[in-house]
Amino acid sequence: MPDKELEKVYDPKKVEEKWTKRWEKDAISHADSQSEKPSFSIVIPPPNVTGSLHLGHALNSTLQDILSRWHRMRGDNVLWLPGMDHAGIATQNVVERQLAAEGGKDRHALGREAFIERVWDWKEESGGTILNQLKRLGASCDWERERFTMDEGLSRAVTTVFEQLYKEGLIYRDQRLINLCPHCRTALSDIEVEHEDIEGKMYYIKYPLADDPTQFLTIATTRPETMLGDTAVAVHPKDPRFNHLIGKKIKLPLTTREIPIIGDPILVDREKGTGAVKITPGHDFNDEKSGKRHQLEKISLITWSGKMNAAALDEAKVASDLSKLLSSKSMTEARKIVVKVLEDAAILTKTEKHMMSLGKCYRCKSVVEPFDSPQWFVKVNAPDNSLAQAAMDAVRQKKIRLIPESWEANYFGWMENIEDWCISRQIWWGHQVPVFYCKTCDQQHLLKVPDSDEMIIASEATPIVGEKTCARCGGSDLLQDPDVLDTWFSSALWPFSTLGWPTDQQPDEAAKQEAKALLKRFYPTSTLVSGFDILFFWVARMIMMGLHFMKDVPFKDVYIHALVRDANGQKMSKSKGNVINPLDLMDQYGTDALRFTLAAMASPGRDIKLSEARIEGYRNFCNKLWNVARFILMNRPETETSSTLDPQTAANRWIQSHLNQTIVSTNRALENYRFDEAAQEIYQFSWHTFCDWYLELAKVDLQNEATRHETYHCVVQTFESILRLLHPFMPFLTEELRTYFKEDTDCLAVSKYPVFDPEKNAVDAEEAIQKVVIDTIMAVRNIRGEMNIPPSESLPILIKAKDQAAVGAFEKEMPYIKRLARLSEVTLDTTLQKPEMSATATTAYGTIYLPLDEQRIRSEIDRIKKRLDKAQKALSVFEKKLGNEKFVANAPAEVVEKTKTEQQAGIQNKERLFSELQHLENFFSKPKETP
Ligand SMILES: [Zn+2]
Ligand SMILES: [Zn+2]
Repeated sequence: MPDKELEKVYDPKKVEEKWTKRWEKDAISHADSQSEKPSFSIVIPPPNVTGSLHLGHALNSTLQDILSRWHRMRGDNVLWLPGMDHAGIATQNVVERQLAAEGGKDRHALGREAFIERVWDWKEESGGTILNQLKRLGASCDWERERFTMDEGLSRAVTTVFEQLYKEGLIYRDQRLINLCPHCRTALSDIEVEHEDIEGKMYYIKYPLADDPTQFLTIATTRPETMLGDTAVAVHPKDPRFNHLIGKKIKLPLTTREIPIIGDPILVDREKGTGAVKITPGHDFNDEKSGKRHQLEKISLITWSGKMNAAALDEAKVASDLSKLLSSKSMTEARKIVVKVLEDAAILTKTEKHMMSLGKCYRCKSVVEPFDSPQWFVKVNAPDNSLAQAAMDAVRQKKIRLIPESWEANYFGWMENIEDWCISRQIWWGHQVPVFYCKTCDQQHLLKVPDSDEMIIASEATPIVGEKTCARCGGSDLLQDPDVLDTWFSSALWPFSTLGWPTDQQPDEAAKQEAKALLKRFYPTSTLVSGFDILFFWVARMIMMGLHFMKDVPFKDVYIHALVRDANGQKMSKSKGNVINPLDLMDQYGTDALRFTLAAMASPGRDIKLSEARIEGYRNFCNKLWNVARFILMNRPETETSSTLDPQTAANRWIQSHLNQTIVSTNRALENYRFDEAAQEIYQFSWHTFCDWYLELAKVDLQNEATRHETYHCVVQTFESILRLLHPFMPFLTEELRTYFKEDTDCLAVSKYPVFDPEKNAVDAEEAIQKVVIDTIMAVRNIRGEMNIPPSESLPILIKAKDQAAVGAFEKEMPYIKRLARLSEVTLDTTLQKPEMSATATTAYGTIYLPLDEQRIRSEIDRIKKRLDKAQKALSVFEKKLGNEKFVANAPAEVVEKTKTEQQAGIQNKERLFSELQHLENFFSKPKETP
């Protein structure tokens, strides 16, 4: 054993820096692509390159690290693959803000290429802070295998996937409504739109018939400004009020257009509204579908920045005065103008309040507009090749387990209603769509946006995919599609693109072989640890892509963790000012304390209410372990025998047996992803069993020459096992402490995780220590408490054992009992009589009597009487307060509530003192003589 002194106080910072370096030097987390050992693999949910560590990451990474370290110690070949996401819109926004702050050119002035170069520069300089923060957290990722969604290999994977899906007809281009964020000036997928319920207005507008303007239909709408783009009015074909009008025409107010009245039983609900519905295929998703069913014209009134488009207003034949007023106005401004004109013309019959759902951009919170434009889509529900169906089957057939299982319902609910995935974005930072157009053949379809260097490709243009030349003219003067792919497109490939897929495109033979080996060893990955908020953005899409391209699931288990909230259960947000920075917590309490807290609170399906008191509590646990180590070192025997441990004493056999059970339950809890239970098992055993009881018992055996060596060995071995059990949770402290007990050149991180050993089970020792030793000591301690006898005072007791065997059991373990219960003398027999004045306690092995002298009881009675008096006085203060009507009526509710709680506590205190008093007074009431 190393012969060195442990510093007095645990300094987490020093220890953490030391071991971070050492793990890196020893490459403990390096995965071996050639190893024949069982594999365990995790891919990290790639944090945004713009990100910095928040508590959600800290929880997510702590749990992944616990699994990685635990499997590594179990002898698995572990790969925890780290990396980052290029985070399209988020990163572009960061750099654009930077340009604005510098006051120089904006991105359009800079031009696309120069701008992208700027983003790369930014990435090299400022991006990826988060990875260093993860290292500080102790994350044992294979840092040599760090990947980035825009690195070369991953970009090759993106192109390959795109081209293949295109050839299979699962990627297509179409002109249709998408969600436009006018601020970010890009399309968003459905799940990038956040919905918010707000109070809006319902407007009722008269639409006159073309052949008889005295007759009209009343239309109700929340968006009157879109009426300029109406191309029909629908009624229900079975509605006797209106169905005779089908085929007639409406003269659309504010325009010179006439639009048809059609019958549409899908769009119109006879029971609701006015029975007539305006159809605006260019501005509403449902209307677009109806428009398709009836071959209606689609008019889009706005531009990419969400402003009224003068050309479109002309096309819609809007009255020219109005058209001038509306041109370049936002939709909100346009609404005001249109409503005013309708009011003036007395066409607006009424308005009323109306609750409605408003879609907002998840990035910038701007109101999203349905916008008609050509975009790229992934077909997720192809009848003969359904990505969604395959992804549902994999979960239904348990090839993928969602943990907790309750998430399956959400998953199926979402997947059953999934729509085609819009994957094109009108930004610059990201994977540019790998599609080209012939500048010669498609000249008229490649449109330059006025006053901009941007291009719009009309939906009629012919895409060239996977070819270098145009099939029509043979020319090679091609223009690449200016759109980039949704960030989630590349992260959907993360579990296999990071391992080197597609292998045949690796730059050389060695890389090809390595990629093949990696994929063979580590795909499918074992476990994905994810927050529920990206279950659909990311997890579901990885399942679709993994199954399609790898013909196998991307991971077997998905552990879904909850949110970290503040101590009051509030979501942390900048606006509320309740955000806790994990780095501050690490500075203040040490990283291990934070990690342990997060693990101990990770109960399935429940959000974590993080209080600093909890972290402080586990910081104390760290200090406790440090002090225990010091205690053990101080008791090191002068001469050491290096015999293997074969414990004989009851205490030693008991602790080994107890440890064995803790090992079983900890491993089982981790197998079931019950991080909370595993943490609690180790905590309870370390603190309450090992420190509180075993070390006290061991002090007895350490003083005995015959049991000293055995006991010291047992103390050290048990403590060392605790360190190994605890390592995945508290990697830094455990590594450091272990060096004082084990002469080992290897890190604890690569030692063996404790396993169950049937030889160590000792039922008899468990029984003896628990029922004979601990129960007796607890009984004496309780009596001391009741009688207010100080722990330092030695006492005589009598034990009436239940039988002769019990006498033997007590005798055998008497040194422990005498020392820990502080007994001066013990009288032990099976036939003892209860001394007249004595306190009594009964255990499974006998009855304990503690003789009391009269003087002690009388002074205790006096003491309690005084306390009762005080308690009564305190209570009357509360009673007076709460009896005062003014106080109850005027004081803040929480003050009244607090007083009531204090009153309740006072009553309970008084009752307890009263029963203690009665108990003591009973000593002086003569027992009834039996006749
Ligand atoms: Zn936006
Ligand atoms: Zn051509």
